[in-house]
Amino acid sequence: MERFDGNQTQIKVGEKTFNFAQGDEIFNLSQPTKDCLKARGLKIKDIDFKGKPCNVCKKEIEPKKAQQCEFCAHFGCGECVYKQFPFPIENSDGSRAYGLICLVCETKLYISKFTEDVMR
Ligand SMILES: [Zn+2]
Ligand SMILES: [Zn+2]
Repeated sequence: MERFDGNQTQIKVGEKTFNFAQGDEIFNLSQPTKDCLKARGLKIKDIDFKGKPCNVCKKEIEPKKAQQCEFCAHFGCGECVYKQFPFPIENSDGSRAYGLICLVCETKLYISKFTEDVMR
C-alpha cells in the first residue's frame, strides 16, 4: 500500500524514483549510521553480493566494486557510491565527519538543504 502525506515526496535519481521524507534519519547523522558495516565491525568482503542489486542504479553489484553508503547503509556499485560527503550534524567540537555517500542520499541532502534555505 502506498501512503502519501505532506512529508512524503518522490525524487528522481538517474532513471529511478526514491522516497524522500524530511524525517529521514540521514538528516540527523554526525557519524556513519549504526546500521553500516563500519559501525558493526564488519567488512565489505564479509558480504555476499550474489544477485544483490545496487540500491541506486539497480544493476547487479560487482563484489570487487561494492561500496556501502554510510548514510543509509544501502549497498551500491562503485559508480553510485564513490564520494565522501560531510554528515549533516556537527560534532560537539564543531568539526564535521565525512562519510561515503550514495547518489540517492546526496540528492536528498541537497534537497533538504535547499528547502531549509527557502523556509528560512
Ligand atoms: Zn549503481
Ligand atoms: Zn545512501
